[in-house]
Amino acid sequence: MNKIYLNLIYLMTLQLLVLINSGCTEKEEHRVLVIHSYEYSYAAYPDFNILIKKAFKDKGIEADIRTVYLDCESHQEQEELDRMRMLLDSLGDWKPEIILVNEDQATYSLLKCGHPLPKQIPVVFAGVNYPNWELIKQYPNVTGFHDKIDYNKTLDVGLELLGKNIMLFTILDYTYLDQAIRADMKEQFRGRKVVGLAHLEFKRQKRDSMRKEGYVYFESIRARVVDASPGGFIWLLSKYVENRCYVQLKRDFTTVNIGNICASPSITAINEAFGYGEKLLGGYITPLNVQISEEVGEAVGILHGTSPGAIPVRESKKVYQIDWNVMQQLHISKKAIPAKYEIINMPFKERYNGLWMTLIVFIVVLLGSIISALAFLYWREQKRKKMALYALEDEKETLALSIEGGNTFAWKLQDDLIVLENAYWKWLGKKTRKVDIDELRNYIHPDHQELFKINKKNLALAKKKIVRLKCDFNGQGYQWWEFRYTTTQLANGQLKTAGLLLNIQEIKDREQELEDARRLAEKAELKQSFLANMSHEIRTPLNAIVGFSNILAMEDELDEADKTEYIDTINRNSELLLKLINDILELSRMESGNMTFQMEKCNVAGLVDKVYMTHKVLIPSYLEFIEERDDTPMEIEVDNDRLTQVLTNFLNNASKFTKEGYIKLGYCFVPEENQVRIYVEDSGIGIPKEEQHIIFSRFYKQNEFAQGTGLGLSICQVIVEKSHGSIELWSELGKGSRFTVVLPCHVIS
Ligand code: ADP
Repeated sequence: MNKIYLNLIYLMTLQLLVLINSGCTEKEEHRVLVIHSYEYSYAAYPDFNILIKKAFKDKGIEADIRTVYLDCESHQEQEELDRMRMLLDSLGDWKPEIILVNEDQATYSLLKCGHPLPKQIPVVFAGVNYPNWELIKQYPNVTGFHDKIDYNKTLDVGLELLGKNIMLFTILDYTYLDQAIRADMKEQFRGRKVVGLAHLEFKRQKRDSMRKEGYVYFESIRARVVDASPGGFIWLLSKYVENRCYVQLKRDFTTVNIGNICASPSITAINEAFGYGEKLLGGYITPLNVQISEEVGEAVGILHGTSPGAIPVRESKKVYQIDWNVMQQLHISKKAIPAKYEIINMPFKERYNGLWMTLIVFIVVLLGSIISALAFLYWREQKRKKMALYALEDEKETLALSIEGGNTFAWKLQDDLIVLENAYWKWLGKKTRKVDIDELRNYIHPDHQELFKINKKNLALAKKKIVRLKCDFNGQGYQWWEFRYTTTQLANGQLKTAGLLLNIQEIKDREQELEDARRLAEKAELKQSFLANMSHEIRTPLNAIVGFSNILAMEDELDEADKTEYIDTINRNSELLLKLINDILELSRMESGNMTFQMEKCNVAGLVDKVYMTHKVLIPSYLEFIEERDDTPMEIEVDNDRLTQVLTNFLNNASKFTKEGYIKLGYCFVPEENQVRIYVEDSGIGIPKEEQHIIFSRFYKQNEFAQGTGLGLSICQVIVEKSHGSIELWSELGKGSRFTVVLPCHVIS
């Protein structure tokens, strides 16, 4: 088994090598002259020429072929010879290496015309039914194939295909060829019961009795010379003549196309026009492809060195052939054709019926499967679409239900117009329509017109926007509405804006209620904590005053030093109480708006200098007191005294909570903001981070026992706010603090 495989591989490799080799070797090139007997338009010639070219190629020769057409039926004998000479002359410098000449007429004319060319180069003839042996003998360089007509087999074809009763006829006159045919026929039919040749007249009665004796009728009629029975020829072509069959023995101007003209079936003894639409049913012939392959084979041998003189003229191979197209015309079934006949022009589906049927079934099954698959996909897609639609519908209903009653409406922007959903118009009691952005503007409260910034430009830019506006859509008063919208870019590059219009009046009402409640609560809480703080803050100094006053009044034995200390304590607490009351009054006056602020333009440098000068003497000497100034001359609009009060408070706190280091008073200009920053910085105890946000609350003191009321910073904040400024705090425990007043200012030139 392995050996077989090895052999197979060896063979395949060998074949591959041969193939590669043949692909690589350069092709032989030869000049070949092809001479045809008939006219250029003869139906078989296109195939004829292609087959010649291909036959050479198959033998590895790239043939440079020139083809000439003698057109023999258009010319008399002498004219034909002249034309042959003329055709050969027309080749000019192009000298063929071999001549292939086809059919009797061209072969005869070539050898007869006297042109030197056929003497100089080898000639191979083919398709010649009656070679002129005398002429051929004169040319040692001429060889070829004798397409010898087999009349007996031709006659058998007629009987086999059309029945024993068929009477055959052909057209023969008295030309050289016709006479040769007639003589050959007679010779070949010798000893066979064939009558009718040589234009014999038969009596009908005699014909019948002879047929019974096994005679076959094969008449020859004349076409060139009309004799005593002029109707004979035409009569034979007529459809009224039964059991007749035309036999093509030659192709000349009398016989060309007879097959088509004749109503009876026709057979042929030669390959001329067979299979090319002249209604010739079949015959025992040398087919065109055989003729060409023999002729080219011979030619290649000669081109490769064989001497034509060494090759005798041979008879060409013959086969039984039948034309499928004519079979169809004559309604002859395939079954009626004996196996020895090769059927030509048979369609693929007839020749390979089984394969054809399998192919058809396969295609049908394939198409069926494709259609079913497509139908299934379509059905599935439809189902999916339907489900999606139901889901969408359901979602829409759910959405509509959920927003119904809440006065929430969907809207979108379409062609610069706002399209509000039907529910909006139903709520309004109006017909659905599109709304212009300007029309929408009319529904908005005059105070909110500024806020309504929806326009084509910012709609396009909006990613996600929420705008709350007071609108009156139904003429029943303004209510709070919320416009929510989003703009996205679709896959096609277009912008899509859509959103919701929500009535938020209820939310707003609730918000207001909550705000009011919060304020009330805050007030109450404030009052309460204020009272608690107040009672604590007032009671402490009062207790001290009352207590020490009582001691002074009751105790007579007090020494002077104690007395002085008690009186000091009473005075200190009285001062504290007084300051407390003053601070409270001041704060409450400020908050209730009863305190007027004398706003005036004031030079920052002058104000800060003044405060610095005042505190220079007050700040303890163990602390360094620094002033920092900015060269930019600036003006602020404040109540001079109040701002001095704020800075004084900062400086007092700084000296209270700084035991060593420095206190800094300064200011700087912030050009980008047009602001001045006035600050008091110290290197004191600092304020813990978590307490920094509450030190401005009332009564806040980090240390309960620290000196002061805890109201100072609250008062400062109110003053600064009234001066359109703000206070900033920086502080770090153990490092120090900085209180900065930020105020709008302008530079003076
Ligand atoms: P008072 O009027 O009693 O001085 P303030 O409102 O001015 O009260 O200050 C409240 C509290 O803020 C002070 O008791 C103190 O705890 C804290 N504080 C204010 N300034 C400074 C500062 N420069 N350094 C540290 N703590 C400070």
